[in-house]
Amino acid sequence: MRQTTIGRRVSCSGIGLHSGKEVGITLRPAAGNAGIVFHARTRDGSRALRPAPDAVTAACLATVLGGNGVSVATVEHLAAALRGLGVDNIHVDVDGGEIPIMDGSAAAFAGLLAEAGIRRQSCTRRVLRIKRPVRYAAEGKWIQAEAYDGFFVDYFVDFPHPAIGAQRMTLNLTPESFSAVASARTFGFLRDVEMLHKAGLGLGGSLDNAIILDDTDVLNPGGLRYENEFVRHKLLDFIGDAAMSPLPLQGRFTVHCSGHGLNNAFLRHLFASREFFFEELVLDERPAGRAAPAARQPAARVCAG
Ligand SMILES: [Zn+2]
Repeated sequence: MRQTTIGRRVSCSGIGLHSGKEVGITLRPAAGNAGIVFHARTRDGSRALRPAPDAVTAACLATVLGGNGVSVATVEHLAAALRGLGVDNIHVDVDGGEIPIMDGSAAAFAGLLAEAGIRRQSCTRRVLRIKRPVRYAAEGKWIQAEAYDGFFVDYFVDFPHPAIGAQRMTLNLTPESFSAVASARTFGFLRDVEMLHKAGLGLGGSLDNAIILDDTDVLNPGGLRYENEFVRHKLLDFIGDAAMSPLPLQGRFTVHCSGHGLNNAFLRHLFASREFFFEELVLDERPAGRAAPAARQPAARVCAG
C-alpha cells in the first residue's frame, strides 16, 4: 500500500475554541515519509511540531501539541480526519496557535481534504502494529488494545445524564467508514462552560460549535445530528488522539469511558515498551479486518516522494 499526501494546497479559518479569536490553517502536500508536520507560525517564522505521545502537553479541554517553545491546540479533529482519510504526509501551517473549531466536528476538515484530493506517492505505507494485548486503566476507565490488521474501535460511554446515558459504537476505520463519525460534534455541559469562561478558557465555545447540555436537555435549537452523536464524537476524538502516534497505529481498541487525558496516558504506556508494538511496511491492498499477519521481511520501497 502506498503512502499518500494531498493534491494541492488548501486553507480554512474560523474561531479558536481556546482563545475565541480568528485562527487559520493551510494544508500543503509533503514528501514521502515526512509524516504529519504542524508548523506553528511565530513572529520570526515558524517552528515544526510532530505528533508523538509525549509531545502532547495538555489533554484537558482539547489535545495540545507542544514543544520547541510553541504549541498548537485542538489538533484532534483535524488529526482524526487525516488518519480517517488515510493521509500519511502533510504540512499543516497554523496561524494563531490553534486549529479552528469549525462546527465542533471533523466535517469541515474532511471536506477540505476532499477538495485538495488525496494523492498516492511512491513510498510504501509504514504503520505501527499492536503486537500483544495491552491495557491501561485509571479511575474505572480503561483502554485495551490487541493485534488487528486495520484500526478497529469498540467504544462505550456512560454519562449519568438523561440525554446521554449508555451508548456504544464499533467502527472498522476506512476512508469510507470515517463518514460515520466525521460530523459528530463535541459536547459540553452548561455548568462547565460557565466555569471555563470564568477561568478565561473555552472562550470560542458556543452553540455554533458544540452540543451544550443543561441538567436535563440538549440546548441547541436544531437538536442532535444522530441519536448517539455523543459516542460518535468520543470515537472521533479517539481516532484523533491515537493519531498522536508518530506513524498510523494498527490494532483493535476497546475503549471504556475514556477522554483526551486517558487516551494520551494509554499512548504513553503503549510506547514506553517495544514489547507492545512493531513497525511494519504495508505491502499489499488487503481488505481491512483480516487477521494480523506475522511480522515479515519486506522488499518494499522505503523512500522517494
Ligand atoms: Zn472532540
